[in-house]
Amino acid sequence: MSSSSPVCDHDNSLEFRSSGPSSLQTPNSGKSFSFSIVSMGELCKWVFLFCIFHGFLPLDIFSSASHVPAELAQIALNFLTYAKKPELFDWMVGIRRKIHENPELGYEEFETSKLIRAELDQMGIPYKYPVAITGVVGFLGTGDAPYVALRADMDALEMEERVDWEHKSKVPGKMHACGHDAHVAMLLGVAKILKEHSNDLQGTILLVFQPAEEGGAGAKKMLEAGALENVNAIFGLHVSNIYPIGAVASRAGPLLARAGMFEAVLTGRGGHAGIPQEAVDPILAASSVIISLQHLVSREADPLDSQVLTVAKIQGGFGFNVIPDSVTIGGTFRTFSKESFLQLQQRIEEVIRTQASVLKCNATVVFNEDDNKPSYPVTVNNKDLHEHFRNVAEAMLGAENVLVMKPLMGGEDFSFFAEVIPGCFFFLGMKNDSQGQSPTGHSPNYRVNEDVLPYGAALHASLATRYLTEYKSESAKRGLSFHDEL
Ligand SMILES: [Zn+2]
Ligand SMILES: [Zn+2]
Repeated sequence: MSSSSPVCDHDNSLEFRSSGPSSLQTPNSGKSFSFSIVSMGELCKWVFLFCIFHGFLPLDIFSSASHVPAELAQIALNFLTYAKKPELFDWMVGIRRKIHENPELGYEEFETSKLIRAELDQMGIPYKYPVAITGVVGFLGTGDAPYVALRADMDALEMEERVDWEHKSKVPGKMHACGHDAHVAMLLGVAKILKEHSNDLQGTILLVFQPAEEGGAGAKKMLEAGALENVNAIFGLHVSNIYPIGAVASRAGPLLARAGMFEAVLTGRGGHAGIPQEAVDPILAASSVIISLQHLVSREADPLDSQVLTVAKIQGGFGFNVIPDSVTIGGTFRTFSKESFLQLQQRIEEVIRTQASVLKCNATVVFNEDDNKPSYPVTVNNKDLHEHFRNVAEAMLGAENVLVMKPLMGGEDFSFFAEVIPGCFFFLGMKNDSQGQSPTGHSPNYRVNEDVLPYGAALHASLATRYLTEYKSESAKRGLSFHDEL
C-alpha cells in the first residue's frame, strides 16, 4: 500500500460466506443508479478499493486522495496491466484454445462446463451447477448484496472450420466461429484477477457461464432456473472484428433487434419435369412465396421502423427432370418493437399460405415458439448502466476508443437477461489489420485476435468492481437495506 494512504476508517473484517449461493443476500430493489458523482463520503471506499488493487501491482500510481476520478481510472488501468501480464494472458490463451479445439453445440457444452468448473475449483471459487443443463454460476465477493452479474456464452456453431492452424477444431462439423471460446476465457480471467481480493469486494460478483446462445435461448433457461433472481445489474460483451483492438462500442437504449425464425414446407405433387400438367410444382410455389415475402418490408413496413426479412434456406428437388413433392424454405425476421414483430410474423404466415395456394400447394409454417426455440427480444441497454460502462471504459481505453454505435439488426439472447435485470451489452473490438483481416462472426474463416483477451477480462472486472462500490454508496445514501435472498 502506498505511503500516501488516506486515513480511512474502513471495516476490513468482511467475511466470505463459503456456504455458497444459499446464504447470499440481496436488496429488494432491482434499481440501478447514476454514477457520475463521487461524494467525500464515498471517497474512503474508493480509496480503500484503490489500495487493494494497487496492492498486487508493482505500479506507483497512488498520488493524492484529491484526484478521485484519476484514481478510479487507475483501477481500470491496473486491471488491464495485470491482465496483460504473461502469466494471466498465456493462461487465458491456453483456455481459449482448449475450448476452440473442442467446440460443443447448445446444451451440449459438457466438456466446456467441466473445464470451467475445474478452473474455479482450482481457484477455490464456489459455484452453482448445473444451471440450465450445462450452465455454471461462480461467486466472487462477500456473499452479500449488492449483486452484479457478468455473462459469457459457451456454445459453438454447426459448421466446418476452414482456418488452418495448430488449434483448429478437432470436431468435424463444429466450430467456435462467434468467439464464445474467447468470452469464456475472459470471464475466467476475471476470476483470476479478483480471486485474491474476493473478500474485499463491496458485494458479490456472479460469473455467469450460459449455454446455447446460438438459437437455443440459454439465457432464458438460466433465468427460469432462478440463477439470477434479485441480481441488481448484468454486463455482457461480444468480441467484434468490426472495431479495432482497444476500442469498444455500444449505445444506451435499443442495441440489437428482436429476432425470430420461420420455416415453411410447401407441398405439391411430384412428377415428370417434362409433363408438368400432371404434377403440382412446389419449386415454382416456393419461388413465388420468396418474392412475395420481400414485399412485406418494402411495401408494408414503416420505412422509419427498421425491419429485416431474409429467406436464408431453400431445400427441394434432386434431379433435373423430376418435380419434387415438397420444398422447405426458412429464414429470419427482425424488428425493433414487439408490435412490428408480431405483425410481421402474422403476415409471413399469411403470405406463405396464400401464395402457395395460388399455385395449388399446401403450406405449413413453423415459428420459433412452435419449435420450442423462443424468439429473442430486443436487447435494450439500461441508460444508467450504459453511463457506468462508458465511464469505466473511458478510464481504461480513453474517450476516443469508446464508440457510440448505431443499432444493429443482429440478435442476442443477453436480451432475456436485460428484460428482467438492468443490463448493458457492448462490443469489444479486436480488429488488427497488421495481423490480416478476419471476417465477421459465423464465417468458416473466422479468427479471434487473442490480444483481445486482457481487454475483456479487465473491463469486466472493472465494471463489476466499480459497480459494487458505487451501488453500495448510492444505496446507503438512499437508505436502502439489503435483506432478500439471492
Ligand atoms: Zn453467433
Ligand atoms: Zn455470439
